[in-house]
Order: sequence, then structure tokens, then C-alpha cells
Amino acid sequence: MSAAIIDGKAFAAGLREKVAGLVPAFEAAAGRKPGLAVVIVGEDPASQVYVRSKGKATEASGMASFTHKLPAETSEEALLDLVRQLNADGAVDGILVQLPLPRHINEQRVIATIDPDKDVDGFHVVNVGRLATGLNGFVPCTPLGCLMLLEDRLGDLSGLNAVVIGRSNIVGKPMAQLLLSKSCTVTIAHSRTKDLPALCRTADILVAAVGRPEMVKRDWIKPGATVIDVGINRIDNGEGGTKLVGDVDFAEASEAAGAVTPVPGGVGPMTIAVLLRNTLVSAYRRAGVPLDKGTI
Ligand code: NAD
Repeated sequence: MSAAIIDGKAFAAGLREKVAGLVPAFEAAAGRKPGLAVVIVGEDPASQVYVRSKGKATEASGMASFTHKLPAETSEEALLDLVRQLNADGAVDGILVQLPLPRHINEQRVIATIDPDKDVDGFHVVNVGRLATGLNGFVPCTPLGCLMLLEDRLGDLSGLNAVVIGRSNIVGKPMAQLLLSKSCTVTIAHSRTKDLPALCRTADILVAAVGRPEMVKRDWIKPGATVIDVGINRIDNGEGGTKLVGDVDFAEASEAAGAVTPVPGGVGPMTIAVLLRNTLVSAYRRAGVPLDKGTI
């Protein structure tokens, strides 16, 4: 059996085009562009790359991008002050504080200070609660992107068995909540789960969000299952360089699954596309401009 490859790169490009297509109508109604503020503290090279690409993608979609680069020694109080300013700024619809933060800053306190209605990352406890209780809020970008790929591939998910490997607040838990909201029967697996391969074999939908290179093997996968690989792991390529692989052994999964996301080019590109989508939705909501449900 040869699995279909779920092209997250193409899906993400389509979503970004949709977002860009909805910006002019917002601008005409609200008299301004939707705006995303991104805050970065310190010099972490990976974070710098993410922040730069978020800024570029925001501008490419026609939205306003506000990047705040603060030195590593910035005090927690100064960062909280900036977040409060952004909360009060009418031109800002989304606030994203790039994680991780330097050790002297309490991440939870920073996230708790973001206005939940501008929390386009969906990390604030109010948005976590909204997701858990089925209220409208913001859902973390990576799991929402996974759900979009799944619904695009499978349509109605109700009644399917889903196994999510990983229980982080950023991916595993919100992924499980989303699948539950779509009436899947959901199991969350983690580092203490017993006989993980057998559990995975019950899954019509298998989502791996672990951070362990190529952990999921052929015999973990129910024939025909849809496999979503969230993992991003850099490993030796055997030729003196490195390469990116997921948490799923892609070659093996391709022989058992019905469909599988590649790494790179699967879930990865969805994260920024959904961030833009969440920012656009926030702008429409905050300005009271109607946006039909299901438009985006
Ligand atoms: P995390 O480290 O916070 O959580 C990992 C989870 O995996 C934990 O809940 C742990 O219980 C579980 N786990 C660890 N070892 C296990 C094992 N042997 N068996 C079963 N479960 C095990 O990681 P995270 O932030 O959720 O990210 C997971 C992966 O997804 C990472 O590779 C990360 O780089 C990637 N990621 C990708 C994107 C993206 O594509 N945009 C976004 C976020 C995270």
C-alpha cells in the first residue's frame, strides 16, 4: 500500500491566499489593516528566524506587522508593560510573545497578561477554557492546522478513533480537544503509556507530537489510517550534515497508512498560515465586521 501524501505546504499557501483575499473587505469596513504584534526577548537564533518569517508572512498577506525586539535582560515588569500597551492599542488585533522567554521571566504571567481576545496563539487559560467548553475563542495554531488537514482529507471525523501521542499544552492537549469537538473517540498517549504500538494500531487518526525522531513505525499504524506528524527533529544525515525528520518513520508509514504528512512540508507550514487566519478573525471580531461562519 502506498499512502497519499498530505501536502501541508499547498494547503497552507491556499489558506494564506484566502486570508489575503479577506483583508481588503476588512480594511474598507474598519478603515485600517488587521494588525499582528510579535514580541521577542533575547537573541535565540531559532526564535529570531520564526519572528522574521511571521513578520514577513503578515505583511505578505496585506496585514500590519509590529515587531518588538527586546534585549535579553529586559525585566518581567517591562515586558508586562509592553503587553499592556499592546492590549490597549486599537491597531493591534493579535499579540504573540515568542517562547521560550529568558529564565528570569515567568511565561505564565506574561501569557496571562495578554488580552484573551488578542491571544491569537490560544495559550491564555481563558482560551484553553473556551476550547474545552466549546465556546468561540482562539485555538493554538499548530493543532488547528492539523485539524484543517484532517477535515480536508477525511471530511466528517465523527465516530473515528483518534490517538494523540503527546500531552503538551501547545499541541497534544488542544489537538485532543479539537478532535473531541469533532466527535472523535480520543485517547491521549504520553511517555507513561503502556504498549503504545498496540494503542496506536486502534487509531483511524494518529497524531504524533512527541519530539522523538521516527518513533512511529509501520506496525504501529492501522492499515489505511491517516497519520499527522507534528514532530520536527534535526538528525545526522549520515553525510556530515543534518536533516529534518518527524516523529513518524515516513518511509514505513507510507507503506501502511492511507495518508500521511511529510516532514518538512506537512504540518510545519500550517502554523504560520493559521496564525494569520487567527489574526484576521480577531480583527473582524474586534471591529464588529461580520465574517460568515465557514468562510475561513
Ligand atoms: P513537548 O516536549 O512539550 O511534549 C512532548 C510530549 O511527548 C510529552 O507530553 C511527553 O509525554 C510525550 N512523550 C515523550 N516521550 C514519549 C514517548 N517515548 N512515548 C510517548 N510519548 C512521549 O513537545 P511539543 O511542544 O508538544 O512538541 C512536540 C513535537 O512537535 C516537537 O518535535 C516539536 O518540535 C514539534 N512542534 C512542531 C510544530 C510545528 O510544526 N509548527 C509546532 C510545535 C511543536
